[in-house]
Amino acid sequence: MSEMKIIYVDNNATTAIAPEVLEVMHPYFTADYFNPSSMYDAARSSADAIENARRTIARCLGDIAADQLLFTGSATESNNAALFGTVQANPERRHVITTAVEHPSVLEIGKELERRGLEVTFLPVNQHGELVIEDYIKALRHDTLLVSIMMANNETGVCYPVAELARIAKETDPLIVVHTDATQALGKLPVDLQNTLQHVDMLAFSGHKIHAPKGIGALFVRRGTRWRPFILGGHQEKGRRAGTENVPYIVGLAKACELAVAGVADEQSRVRALRDRLQSTLVKLIPALEVNGKDAAVRLPNTLNLAIHGIEGESILYELSRHGICASSGSACTSGTLDPSHVLKAMQVPFTAIHGSLRISLSRYNDDTDIDRIIEVLPVVITRLRKLSPYWDDERNCLKL
Ligand code: PMP
Repeated sequence: MSEMKIIYVDNNATTAIAPEVLEVMHPYFTADYFNPSSMYDAARSSADAIENARRTIARCLGDIAADQLLFTGSATESNNAALFGTVQANPERRHVITTAVEHPSVLEIGKELERRGLEVTFLPVNQHGELVIEDYIKALRHDTLLVSIMMANNETGVCYPVAELARIAKETDPLIVVHTDATQALGKLPVDLQNTLQHVDMLAFSGHKIHAPKGIGALFVRRGTRWRPFILGGHQEKGRRAGTENVPYIVGLAKACELAVAGVADEQSRVRALRDRLQSTLVKLIPALEVNGKDAAVRLPNTLNLAIHGIEGESILYELSRHGICASSGSACTSGTLDPSHVLKAMQVPFTAIHGSLRISLSRYNDDTDIDRIIEVLPVVITRLRKLSPYWDDERNCLKL
C-alpha cells in the first residue's frame, strides 16, 4: 500500500524546518560544539556565529543596530521578558493595555499582572476581529505604562495596525512602552523597525513559525527602553538573558529570517492566491459557511479560519486527518472539556459555529495540488458530519431553526 501524502496546512501552529536552515545549523551540532563564552580559540567560531546571526536578523528587521536583539527560547519567553521586564523597571506606572485576542503568552501575563495589582485593559474586538481605534485612544491614560498588541492573530490571521497604534501611544505620552508580538507576522508581512515600526519599543518572534526549529525565539528591545532582564544568571547576551546560548538554533533562526523576509512577496502573491481560491471555492460549495475575520485584505495572506455551522471542529479535524490533511480547530480541547477559542468568543461568533471552526494556514511549501485536495475532501466530510448533527436540517440543507 502506498503511503498517504500528508497535506500540511497548519503552519500557524508550526512549520517544517527549511533544508537551508538545517544545513547551516549542522556544523554547530558537530565540529563547532563549543561554549561560545570559552576563552580558547576553538570556541571563537561559535561566538562569532552568534554575532553574525544577530547582525543578519537586524538587517532583516529594517537594518537596525544589532545590539538591540536578544535570543530567547521561544516567543512565549520573549513576551514574558518584554512584559514582566517592563513592569519591573517601571513600578510607578500601573496601567497596561492589551487586547482580548492576544496569544495566551500575552493574555495570561495580562491576567497575572491584574493579580499583582496592576490595572489591565483588554481591548475588545468587533465581529470581524478588528480593534476599534476609538476604544484604544480612550483607553490610553496618564499612568499607562505599556501597550502590547499583536501584529497578526494566530487563529484568524486578522492584522492589527501596530505602526499607527504605536504612533498614537507615543504622541499621547512618549514614556509609554510599546510592545508587539510579531510571531505570526514575520515572513508574511513587512517588519521594519527602522521605518514603519519606528515607534515600537519591543518586538517578539519565534523560529518555529518561519521554518526554523522549535525552542528558539528573539526579542527586540529598542535602545533606551526602560526594561529589566527577566532571566537572571550568567553574563550571556550582555546580562540581558542568562543561559548558555543555543548556537545551532541561533544560526538557524538567522537563516530562517533571511528566507522569511525574502519570501514576503511570495506570501503576498502566490500564497495569498492559493488561500483566496480555497476560500472562494469552499464558500460556494458548502452551505452555512462563514469566514471568521471576514475581510481577506486585513488578514494574513496564508490564513483561513472558517465557521462551519452545526458541527464540531474536532470531528472535522479527525476526518481530515484520515485523508492526510493536517489542519486545526479554533477551539482547544483542554483537560477533557471543550473550551471554545477566546478569540472567536471575543468576536461573538454564534454558538452554532464557535465549536465548528477550522483553521487552514498555508506556507511556501503548499501548492495548487494541496488546495485541490482540500476542495475535494472538505465538502464531503462536512456533508457527512452534518447528516449526523442534531443542529442540521438535512432535507432543507440548512441549520435547524
Ligand atoms: N504568539 C503568537 C501569536 C503565536 O502564534 C505563538 C505560537 N502559537 C506564540 C506567541 C508562542 O510562540 P512559541 O511557541 O515560540 O512560544
